[in-house]
Order: sequence, then C-alpha cells, then structure tokens
Amino acid sequence: MPMNSETLVKAPSLKVLKGTATSYHYSNQIPLSIWVRTASRILKHANSYASKDVQDQAFVLYTRFIDLFAYNLYRHPDLVRAKSDYQANKKTNEAKIYREYVQLRSKLPQLMEEAEKLGSALKLRYNEYQEKLKREETTPDRQRLIAAESRRPEPQLKSGRVFSDIELSRKLERLSDTSQSSVSGKRVSQLKYPEVPSTKSFEVAISGHENSIQVAPVASPLTHPAINSTEGRSPLRTIFLPSELINNFLDIASHNTQQGMETCGLLCGKLNRNAFFVTYLVIPEQTSTPNTCSTKNEEHLFDVIDQLDLFILGWIHTHPTQSCFLSSVDLHTQNSYQIMLNEAVAVVCSPGERFSKKLGIFRLTDPPGIATITSCGKSGFHPHPEKNLYVECYRISKENAKSGHVVIKKGLPYHLKDLR
Ligand SMILES: [Zn+2]
Ligand SMILES: [Zn+2]
Repeated sequence: MPMNSETLVKAPSLKVLKGTATSYHYSNQIPLSIWVRTASRILKHANSYASKDVQDQAFVLYTRFIDLFAYNLYRHPDLVRAKSDYQANKKTNEAKIYREYVQLRSKLPQLMEEAEKLGSALKLRYNEYQEKLKREETTPDRQRLIAAESRRPEPQLKSGRVFSDIELSRKLERLSDTSQSSVSGKRVSQLKYPEVPSTKSFEVAISGHENSIQVAPVASPLTHPAINSTEGRSPLRTIFLPSELINNFLDIASHNTQQGMETCGLLCGKLNRNAFFVTYLVIPEQTSTPNTCSTKNEEHLFDVIDQLDLFILGWIHTHPTQSCFLSSVDLHTQNSYQIMLNEAVAVVCSPGERFSKKLGIFRLTDPPGIATITSCGKSGFHPHPEKNLYVECYRISKENAKSGHVVIKKGLPYHLKDLR
C-alpha cells in the first residue's frame, strides 16, 4: 500500500548535497580551457535547475562552481601564461580563456548569495521532512519502511573525495552550515518506464548498481526516479534517447563511413521531471581521420547550444574501421563530458559488416574511471593498463532497470542541427 507520496519525497540533507557538490575530481592535467568551459556549463545547468525550481540540483551545481574557483582553478599552471597574454593585450587563445575565467570568477559573490538562499530553503525542507518522518514513525507502513531500509547499506558519497564535516564547513564556510545525518526514508512516486525496443543486439555489461541513493527534486513528487547510480553510488538520472536519432546519425555519417572516416555529433536535450530527454542531435563543424574526430569552431557550437538552453547529455561517433569500444582518446573526451554532467554518455557506432557489435553506450566508471583519466596527463593514443575504466549503460529492459541509465525509445521527438 503506497503511502502519501507527498509526505515521503526524500529531502536530502545539506551535508549530502555538499558532499555531492565537492565530489568531482580536479586535476591540473586537464587544460584550463576545458575547465573554463566546464565551469561555464556547470553554471548554465545550475541556472537551468534554479529556473525550474529544482533546488537541490541548483544548490549542488552552484556549490560545485564556487568550490572549483575558490579552491582549485586559481592554482592551474595554464593561468600564468594566460594572464600575461591577457595583460599584454595579445590576441591569443590563452588571453581569451583568461578573459572568460575572470568573467566567471566575478560571478562568485552573487552565486554564493544564491547558494546560501537555496541552502536555507533546503534546510527548511529537510527539517520539515524529518518532522513528518517522526510523526509517521508509529504507523505500520513506516515500520515496514524502516525494516526495509535497515537491510540496505548506508548510501555513500562518491568515493575519492569524501569530506569530513570539518573539512566541508571550512571549504564552504560562507554557505550556511548544517551537519545533519542522512535519513533512511525513501519514497518517490514511480512512473511507468517507457518501453525499450526489442533490438537487443548489444551486449551489456551489468555494472552492479545495487544500492542507489535517490535524490529526487524536492519540488515535485511526480518524477522519474534516479534508478541507477555510479560505482560510488552517486545517483544517475535516466536519459531517454530516441532510437530514430541513432539511425539518422548513421545516415548523416554514411558518406564519411564509406571513406573510412569518423563522424561525431552531440546529444543535447532537456531535463523534465528529473529525467533527461535527448531532443537535439547537433552535428558540429569537424575534422576527422579514420580513428579520430574533433570538433571545430567550438565557440559557435557552444553558443548554439546555450541559445537553445540545452544540456549536453553526451556525444555520438562512428568507428568505421574499428570495433565498438572507447579508445584512449575517446576516454579523455568522455571524461570532459562527464565532468560537466555525471550522466553524460558516449554512443559509439561500428556500422561495418565485420563488426558483430554495432552499438555501444558507455560511461566512465566512478571509481575508478574518472579519477584515472582525470589524472592521466597523456594525449593522443596511449595505453591505459587499468581495467574497468568504463561500462555500458544501456538499459536492457524495464525489468532490468539497473543495467543502465540510458533508455532507447521509439517515437520520441528530436531536432537535427547540422552546423557544417
Ligand atoms: Zn572512438
Ligand atoms: Zn590517458
């Protein structure tokens, strides 16, 4: 018997949210240009959440943005050159990056205020939630819930950077400080999962997401639950991907494919009730080789995406001469997408006759994938001896929802934007 879902939508504690916010992996090995772009995306996403009143996610991303500038980016080695080019009025790319860096950094005071406001509202919601839980403590349903929850291991923050309370509050002392323990109550009203097409030609690596924590937006109880999680148990919201988009992309790529050259595209979309929907296939200006494909004129590309107010949910590319996997270069590219958005995926198509596996949907594991790639300073093709750096994240069926957070579905609307 379901209880009143409104009373049981989980309100996460600020401690959990701050932990999520600061659990990204920072490394000076990643060029400043990528960090600046990432910061700009984080801010875009945060504003988008704030405008939809998804307070917990907005808080997480504002806090992450603040953390990135206040504790990490200022010590990036690329800053020295960038700053001197900027001050000497040089027209270099470095000078441009520095200008963007300064512009973003100048938003800090305003964003700290914003995060503080959100923090107070979330704290209030959390306290109300705790009160409701207490009131329901004696009902049989509640007891059953407690019994079920006690069999579940405590949710953990993303591994690698789990901070103590002291460390957290020191890092974010400007933000309102509450340290409440995580609660076990968990109930999100569930919608039916859309159907998955029966073309199960992909082998799917099950990555054992047994115990996901669900951080639903506090605003609306009618929401898609985050069923999946990373290896470190950060929640992964579901991404819905139109199956026609993949075929459309293969048609667009076919000319290059026949010549043995790669093609790439960006998967962009919207957040709706705590799930992502890929609503745009953007084909950027690009240069390709048989083993690589890189975007050109990125400034214009990101302008277009910003104007459409889209999340970058991942990328798609062909392997005309190679089987379906993530190369070392792909791993580094994918890392830069996952830094921007936890859920971002890499879709790889190997259309060639000789490849039995034609489609793969991948993400880096976390841990160990993200940390390993973030701290790898190499570029070009190079071996990564570590295992388990990435996994498939395609959801085989609704019965196997834990198999991955990407649902391929027929008939979802999407647009094509070809910038070439
Ligand atoms: Zn590739
Ligand atoms: Zn590497």
